[in-house]
Amino acid sequence: MSLKEQYPITLYNTLTKSKEKFEPIHPDRVGMYVCGPTVYSDVHLGNVRTFMSFDMIYRYLLYIGYKVRYVRNITDVGHLENDADEGEDKIAKKARLEQLEPMEIVQHYTNGFHDVLKQFNLLPPSIEPSATGHIMEQIEMVQDLLDKGLAYEVNGSVYFDVTKYDEKHSYGKLSGRKIEEMMESGRMLDSQDEKRNKIDFAIWKKASPSHIMRWNSPWGEGFPGWHLECTVMSTKYLGETFDIHGGGMDLLFPHHECEIAQSVASTGKDPVKYWLHTNMLTVNGQKMSKSLGNSFLPQELFAGEHELLDRGYSAMVVRFFNLQSHYSSTLDFSNEALTAAEKGYKRLMEGYRIATGLSYQAGTVDTEFEAKIKQNIGELFENMSDDFNSAKTLAVLFELTTTMNNFKAGNNQVGQLSEATFNELIKHYTGFITDVLGLKEEQEGNQQLVSGVVEMLIKLRNDAKAAKNYALTDKIRDDLKALGVSLKDGKEGTEYTID
Ligand SMILES: [Zn+2]
Repeated sequence: MSLKEQYPITLYNTLTKSKEKFEPIHPDRVGMYVCGPTVYSDVHLGNVRTFMSFDMIYRYLLYIGYKVRYVRNITDVGHLENDADEGEDKIAKKARLEQLEPMEIVQHYTNGFHDVLKQFNLLPPSIEPSATGHIMEQIEMVQDLLDKGLAYEVNGSVYFDVTKYDEKHSYGKLSGRKIEEMMESGRMLDSQDEKRNKIDFAIWKKASPSHIMRWNSPWGEGFPGWHLECTVMSTKYLGETFDIHGGGMDLLFPHHECEIAQSVASTGKDPVKYWLHTNMLTVNGQKMSKSLGNSFLPQELFAGEHELLDRGYSAMVVRFFNLQSHYSSTLDFSNEALTAAEKGYKRLMEGYRIATGLSYQAGTVDTEFEAKIKQNIGELFENMSDDFNSAKTLAVLFELTTTMNNFKAGNNQVGQLSEATFNELIKHYTGFITDVLGLKEEQEGNQQLVSGVVEMLIKLRNDAKAAKNYALTDKIRDDLKALGVSLKDGKEGTEYTID
């Protein structure tokens, strides 16, 4: 029996608001789409939490034997400043303010996004499509929705007709919002408005003369609406119906609601079997937001450069911290919580180092101990298969860390386990830490070691110099140089740089 059959996944589906057994459309394969960033500014920690959570889900699906096609897009056009199809395109605005090409903005922040995710040890998705790379497909879908009578054109812009759609389908089924209430709340349409109803949304926008991002279309020069790109790209790469669609909770309405409507209108099919939403980050109990001044960029967090931070915390400590709560719960940032996470992370990695250094030696098998370890290994899978409960999985890993420490201290012998169980233990204990939870040893320790060794050699070289042993001083300098470490003698002593 394969691992995925042995430990079937159940997950909380935001669409049905219930926990369901996970049954992918094709038994061995999973199609997963996650809404990526709008690349007009640095990615902040709240966004990172979402991507880190889906990285863990992706990793677990792979670990238990699924073939996964993971699509995460880059939004590089069409995301306006507010949800009511008003305001400037976020990327065009940034380009205008900084006097750069929009694609320079896109490239700059896409690079930054990738750098940050790499630091947090995220696996790259299988496909990372961008909205501007799929303009033709988006125009085709707009035309299709027009042909089906569920969209209308006004003055070069095309809007999705929500009321018409709702006659035969159900708009609001993901968010639970009622169309009548949506029609009554908020600002009313005025004579300036092009929409027939205020809840309609743009799928193609006419570009004003000053708008720098524009493409030819049957309706004149314009650009696609934000919600459309995800429908087009998920359909193109994962099919009309696919398994998992994820994103932050803040995208549930209107973005994901609109995605469903566009798909159902175009293909007649519900696009997604399981909707997964991650919860937000809070700071000392308050929602993290730019306007409250309590949002950090990852770089600020690493350096400890923020008034709310006592000091810096590493990427792996933050990753560990994120894993300590369920992806659908809020997660509260505080110095105390991060300090505790740092301790936990270090303890776990110490266990990992012990585990990788152990080798089996036959002894007398202790049946009780053997049964407990087997149970713990099973619990690792059971907890992750239970809606990806990383917090409970970590608790089991800590029980096993105690076992590793006991092996090291001689309180237990590896021979108290059968060889098969010992091998399973090491394989999955280390596999869950690195492959599933995505934790790794930080470079920090190595850097400290390198600087310690170089400082020691500089001291030896100074001693050799004092003893007029110039052959040795030159040798130390030249050998270090060959390794890429350059020494520079100055008044304050010797400094070094690493190439
Ligand atoms: Zn999206």
